[in-house]
Amino acid sequence: MSDCIFCKIVAGELPSKKVFENDEIVAFHDIQPASPIHVLIIPKKHIPSLADAQAEDWTTIGQVQAVAAQIARELDIEESGYRVITNVGANAGQIVHHIHYHLMGGARLAPLGV
Ligand code: 5GP
Ligand code: ZN
Repeated sequence: MSDCIFCKIVAGELPSKKVFENDEIVAFHDIQPASPIHVLIIPKKHIPSLADAQAEDWTTIGQVQAVAAQIARELDIEESGYRVITNVGANAGQIVHHIHYHLMGGARLAPLGV
């Protein structure tokens, strides 16, 4: 997707502070962190949201969770706790329409809710 900022990050056309990369997945620090640790983990493939995932995407999307746990360990927030979430659509506040998982921690997070 030529107008997708996360595809541009994947392609190296936009800079990012990467913390993980393999053939299918890349993770980088959020440009506007909402917590002391705020990393975005994305499949390299352009999938607009969880709602658009196809059968062949589930293995990669499952691996995103393993990557989240690994990064949390490496960034030393495993013991204190962290959150992994993905926003889908308007009510969840999804702004970037390339599926991404927020890994957040480093402080006590606000409860989920409206
Ligand atoms: P959403 O609301 O779509 O779930 O979250 C999108 C996230 O992407 C936001 O936390 C926002 O700060 C982050 N973001 C938007 N543009 C960029 C960018 O160009 N680089 C990085 N690293 N993060 C971005
Ligand atoms: Zn994209």
